[in-house]
Amino acid sequence: MPEMPAVLANTLMPWFAKPSHVSRVETLAPGLRRVRFEGASLRGVSYEAGQEVEFRVSPTEFRHYTPSLWDVESGVLEVVFYLHGQGPGSAWAEALEPGDAVDILGPGGRLSVDADAPAHLFLGDETCLGLFQAMIRALPSPLRLLGAVEVAPGAEDWLARTGVPLTAVARRASRGEALSAWLEQNVLPGATCYLAGHAGSIVALRKQLLERHGCARRSLRSKAYWADGKRGL
Ligand SMILES: Cc1cc2nc3c(=O)[nH]c(=O)nc-3n(C[C@H](O)[C@H](O)[C@H](O)COP(=O)(O)OP(=O)(O)OC[C@H]3O[C@@H](n4cnc5c(N)ncnc54)[C@H](O)[C@@H]3O)c2cc1C
Repeated sequence: MPEMPAVLANTLMPWFAKPSHVSRVETLAPGLRRVRFEGASLRGVSYEAGQEVEFRVSPTEFRHYTPSLWDVESGVLEVVFYLHGQGPGSAWAEALEPGDAVDILGPGGRLSVDADAPAHLFLGDETCLGLFQAMIRALPSPLRLLGAVEVAPGAEDWLARTGVPLTAVARRASRGEALSAWLEQNVLPGATCYLAGHAGSIVALRKQLLERHGCARRSLRSKAYWADGKRGL
């Protein structure tokens, strides 16, 4: 639901959205913000790590984001926003300030942790930092996990800043290329593989995992978060 007439959104939001307020904004790095939302309506919600929420980012536009944390007992939810600077969602997230009232739709979506898997492999980009943090926190221990996040050259410390215990790989000429090269050197037999972020990279990495690494289709879980030239997935 990336777009909706404003009059319809005004009618539906009070029925379906969870009211909250921004209680903290942290600039983790230029282009990366962690925002905390709090509210009584965020308590007691049935939520699973990996699920997404939706924000109304303009009178007519909605965008999906993933809680990096949702404490349903205290009603605290956090999102790590990558500010790519090319759309209304990014601009909205950049403008958020403590005290702002924000209505939240969801949770929804079916990307989840495979609790029975003997090992876990994560591949994604900047938009997945919150997703991976939430999923890794939800994994049963002891952990066998591995993974890489593709970031712009110079932003390799973004993983440490968000507390994501995976490897940072610097983006090369084309998106997904650095992840593909990393995958060639890193195998984790029997792992369930979680792919998210840039749609084109996911398609290429799925193919590589299936054809070159002998991954079973049932052990691949993926979700495209954005696509070149496409507004609001
Ligand atoms: C289920 C789900 C969960 C998501 N969770 C998160 C999250 O937790 N944190 C987060 O930061 N993002 C997350 N995203 C991605 C985010 O919703 C998209 O990046 C979205 O496009 C942002 O909206 P926008 O209005 O800024 O840009 P849009 O209007 O959607 O797009 C405008 C232009 O920007 C380009 N664009 C979009 N995203 C990027 C990008 N990352 N890098 C470069 N160019 C881009 C598009 O190709 C398009 O050309 C999630 C997406 C989905 C579907």
